[in-house]
Amino acid sequence: MAHHLTTCTFCGVGCGLYLETADNRIVGVYPSPSHPSNSGRLCLRGWHVHEIANSPDRLKRPLIKKNGSFQETSWEEAFSLIAARLSEIRDQHGPDSLAFLNSPRCSNEEAYLLQKFARSIVGTNNVDHGTGVYSNNSVDTLLEMIGVPATTGSISELAHSDVILVDGVDLARRLPTLGGTVIRAKIKGARLIAIGTRRHRVAQSADIFLQIRPQTEQYLYGAMAKIIEDRGLMDLNFIKARCQNYEEFRSEVGYYDLLQAADICGVSPELIEAAALLYAQSKSSATLYSTGIEFRSPDHIRALVNLTLLTGNLGKPGAGIFALSEQNNLQGVCDVGMLPNRLPGYLPVTNGEARAALERQWGAELPSRPGASARSLLAGEVPIKALWLCRYDPVSTAAVADAAGAIRQCKFVVVQHLFMTETAKYADVILPTTAYGEEQVSFTSTDRRVQVAEKVVEPPLELTPAWWHIVQVARHMGARWDYPSAGEVMREIAEVIEFYSGVNYENLTTEYGRQWPCTKEKPLGTRHLFADRTGGRRFNFVAIPVPAELDGKPTRQFPFTLVFGHSLYYWNQNVLIRHSETLKREYQVLLLDYPEGFVEINTEDAKALGIRDGERVRICTARATASSTARVTPEVRSGTLYVPYFVREVEEQFLGAADEGNVQVRVEKEAVA
Ligand code: SF4
Repeated sequence: MAHHLTTCTFCGVGCGLYLETADNRIVGVYPSPSHPSNSGRLCLRGWHVHEIANSPDRLKRPLIKKNGSFQETSWEEAFSLIAARLSEIRDQHGPDSLAFLNSPRCSNEEAYLLQKFARSIVGTNNVDHGTGVYSNNSVDTLLEMIGVPATTGSISELAHSDVILVDGVDLARRLPTLGGTVIRAKIKGARLIAIGTRRHRVAQSADIFLQIRPQTEQYLYGAMAKIIEDRGLMDLNFIKARCQNYEEFRSEVGYYDLLQAADICGVSPELIEAAALLYAQSKSSATLYSTGIEFRSPDHIRALVNLTLLTGNLGKPGAGIFALSEQNNLQGVCDVGMLPNRLPGYLPVTNGEARAALERQWGAELPSRPGASARSLLAGEVPIKALWLCRYDPVSTAAVADAAGAIRQCKFVVVQHLFMTETAKYADVILPTTAYGEEQVSFTSTDRRVQVAEKVVEPPLELTPAWWHIVQVARHMGARWDYPSAGEVMREIAEVIEFYSGVNYENLTTEYGRQWPCTKEKPLGTRHLFADRTGGRRFNFVAIPVPAELDGKPTRQFPFTLVFGHSLYYWNQNVLIRHSETLKREYQVLLLDYPEGFVEINTEDAKALGIRDGERVRICTARATASSTARVTPEVRSGTLYVPYFVREVEEQFLGAADEGNVQVRVEKEAVA
């Protein structure tokens, strides 16, 4: 048996593991004891995600739809057809009639080449990743305030944090080994502050748990900043040396009122005060939040960053902002330019100088108009004629949009995927891809660690990597692209993106990858950003006025607030889990009691309404109604109704409205027919 060090490509932690192979099959997995992100631990998904490659449902040959049904074809015919149809549609309807979307699970190489194809060959900035259909406000907000759209610290350094503040994200379920790291830090003496509506595993272990009403974080963080100011606990040396707009921020913070915040958030003022003092008085406080699909407004994220700046918690071990992603390569696909408004390296598409530099490197003219987001494309707000989807299945997963409706409007659809997904059924051409372990590509984890996932087995038949398909279509459209390997694609990424300039496949395969910025001057990468606390880039406080009033307050008629989010059960819908025998069994078994999904209601609320676990309930607003099954649990806050994203009926009725503020509902027992 052979043993290969590689990385788990399921979630953003990027755990290190070994794959055991025999007879061209992956036959075993074990964790890397010394990998800095997981130190010898794996979660259930890491142990079994390789099973996907052995799924009997895998697509094996390119498919073309003829007379409404799919027929196997040759690679050559598939590439020629795609090139011809994309060229035709671009020439007839213009470049912005085409769009290119990928999954945040795609490799860096796939994402880089797909956006390069869209921009330099087609001439559109209509590129985005799947998380773009949600309210993903993190990239622009972090760029605005600290100039870097990423986690500033390192997962391994959480072991040295004195205080860890967890905003909302259910770590144990979504980034399990990271959740374990936080719990172990707590056992070793770190103090834990959890904030959110749900009493998840980490919240249960917290020293202070602020179980606030939904979407009241801004009041909470404003009040905490006011307490820190009033007690003189701000880090003035850091603020003077590194920050600007402090006075503007300070004058607005003066208007926050602890008692009012406590009333709005639904927690005691003493608890808010205790959290503020704990956070500000520690030697190093780390702040963790999710950049994924849960709703965090720009002001919510700004308020968190303001707290970090106010207390000088940037640029030292164990401190910083941890902008977490449960998708394994959300960081990487954004880094390499899979964003409608930003080029590789986050330079705005409207920046003429940045565009000119890239035009010289790519030898092509680039469009200056920002593209349409995944959300507007899949909601049908921006009509398109052709769509290319790389490993992305929006019909099953894009909760906020009628993706199927938007895709049906297209004249031509290309899908690259391992499986015949719900989205692939609408495709004109399907290009089957290689799986985990069958290709050597790179991913960037949630703490900026660029790592190589190794090729450890040969793919079945003639399956090829998704990045290679993009190269072939580009060549059929006249581009002189020459990338003999994914390593060569990375070589170009390093030329184009300054903070990847020291990255190459030789150094990625030693010492568990490299954390960017990894440059020629700093080839070993950077564990925490902004280590020089006295000079360098200046950070921006943002003054956030006290919000006029909370959007969507409970009323007598509609006393419950809907909260959309992940739960452990969310994973049963994941396409990778559905095709791994062990994971499917483990996750499906949890749904035996609720085969059609559920909404979660607090135990006391359920008792008051006479609702028992497993009973059908109706959820109503003045305009919409949906039905589901009640799951009664003390985990959710009283007055809230927690909806996992996969409960489509509830989602379709209410999720779009949830982006604009809280959705207030009534819940009642459904009459038995
Ligand atoms: Fe894989 Fe994430 Fe689990 Fe680690 S925590 S084993 S990266 S799924």
